[in-house]
Amino acid sequence: MQFLVNHTRVEFIRGDITRQDTEAIVNAANSSLLGGGGVDGAIHQAGGPQILEECKKIIARQGGCSTGQAVITSGGDLPARYVIHTVGPVWHGGGHNEAALLRDAYCNSLQLAQVKGIKSIAFPSISTGVYSYPIKQAAAIAVAAVREFAGNNELPGLIRFVLFSNRDLVVYQATWEEATGSR
Ligand code: ADP
Repeated sequence: MQFLVNHTRVEFIRGDITRQDTEAIVNAANSSLLGGGGVDGAIHQAGGPQILEECKKIIARQGGCSTGQAVITSGGDLPARYVIHTVGPVWHGGGHNEAALLRDAYCNSLQLAQVKGIKSIAFPSISTGVYSYPIKQAAAIAVAAVREFAGNNELPGLIRFVLFSNRDLVVYQATWEEATGSR
């Protein structure tokens, strides 16, 4: 499914983030930036050692990446030219600023993409794997952040949500339709 917000196309697909040919893909990283499981492991595996080398330079410079922040490396062997590494919050029940931090992860990734002049970007479902964020609540935050950013900015002109399961895809699409009144 795809929708238009001002000049930005917003897409929802089921797929593998490492296979996306958008100019940037987003990694659901952890603050060490040293790799992990899930999306993070898949990106480092498919992208090769160059991504980790660049992450290590960022670590040397700023000591990692705080929750809600984002950093950028090249895409190594991936089809995408860049990887934007952002750190979503671990779910601790909702009373630990999780919603604001998840929103920050989306907004700061989009902001970084815009500053770099990136025209297309693909997001996985940040925090809803190992970090256990409830999918419906995470989808509402993701959708709201993307809608607002697309309403106020020209770049990126394509924002794609790449969901790993059909169940997650249905949740994200339904959330978008509820939020926008579109069908
Ligand atoms: P987090 O630690 O932020 O929760 P995870 O990587 O554990 O991140 O999971 C985030 C979401 O990404 C989960 O829904 C998981 O199923 C999904 N996922 C895992 N691998 C991929 C992939 N290769 N492409 C897209 N989504 C993926």
